[in-house]
Amino acid sequence: TIKDSILTNVAFYDSKIRKQENEVREMEDEMEDALLNGEFVVYLQPKHNISTGAIIGAESLVRWNHPQKGLILPNKFIPLFENNGFIVKLDEYVWDETCKLMRKWMDKGGREIPVSVNVSRMHIYDSELCSKLLNITKKYNVRNELLELELTESIFIENTSVLFEIMNQIMNQGFRFSLDDFGTGYSSLSILKDVPISEIKLDREFFNEPGSRTDSKIIIKHIIEMSNALGITVVAEGVETKKISEELLEMGCSIAQGFYFSKPMPAKEFEKLLFH
Ligand code: C2E
Ligand code: MG
Ligand code: MG
Ligand code: MG
Repeated sequence: TIKDSILTNVAFYDSKIRKQENEVREMEDEMEDALLNGEFVVYLQPKHNISTGAIIGAESLVRWNHPQKGLILPNKFIPLFENNGFIVKLDEYVWDETCKLMRKWMDKGGREIPVSVNVSRMHIYDSELCSKLLNITKKYNVRNELLELELTESIFIENTSVLFEIMNQIMNQGFRFSLDDFGTGYSSLSILKDVPISEIKLDREFFNEPGSRTDSKIIIKHIIEMSNALGITVVAEGVETKKISEELLEMGCSIAQGFYFSKPMPAKEFEKLLFH
């Protein structure tokens, strides 16, 4: 009967919600120890020069290498950690690991490679942010210019003048900012001239919209032209095909980060690419 099926459905959703609640509770119980035990690992995804294929940088992306559950991707835990505040500690850990790796590569005689890290929205109003960053680069003797800070575009919806002040203070120390997920948010193009950034990352949403491909292309082309004119580097994120990478190149974008070139990989594998 209908009543039976409704009750079955309710029971199903009820158990689904309970399962999710359990997962959240488990992650919250385990996160602190997981950090101490080194279960959070930094993966690196190279940024490539589209025409030569050369690696010109990388992004640090965190994973939770759970002893029972295996490798957990950030979309499973970042939203939770942004809610409960743990992201502040986790981000700092990722920045530390990233600078440690950069030091290691330089000691091995490698060239200097800029690496970007993600900075959670929780962190940007932290009055200690600048000194935290300075402490880490000093600890590993890494030039501040090599650590790029990715901020997601949606941060810039509110309170931008305070934000620009904080960013300028950090930029004055040599750090560089990158505007992540560009094109998905609600900001206007004028953000490009107002925000103190040296790079934008075009979100892969742009390339995965089959219906509005031509519309998207026109917009992408304008963004690339404007950025180039303003001296802002454009990185295309989530490039999965040769065709798209060629189109981007034609439109004036010369850097890509995406599965067509490389997936995010453990540091050991990234080092093999660097020192091959
Ligand atoms: P994001 O910063 O925009 O990172 C890019 C995401 O796109 C990564 O997902 C990467 O694996 C994925 N990606 C790259 N190329 C391709 C492609 O060609 N195809 C497809 N389908 N995907 C591609 P990931 O590693 O799962 O990270 C997801 C998000 O989690 C990141 O998006 C970032 O917002 C957040 N995140 C990751 N690590 C950290 C961290 O240490 N701190 C903070 N606050 N957020 C992080
Ligand atoms: Mg990012
Ligand atoms: Mg991105
Ligand atoms: Mg993204």
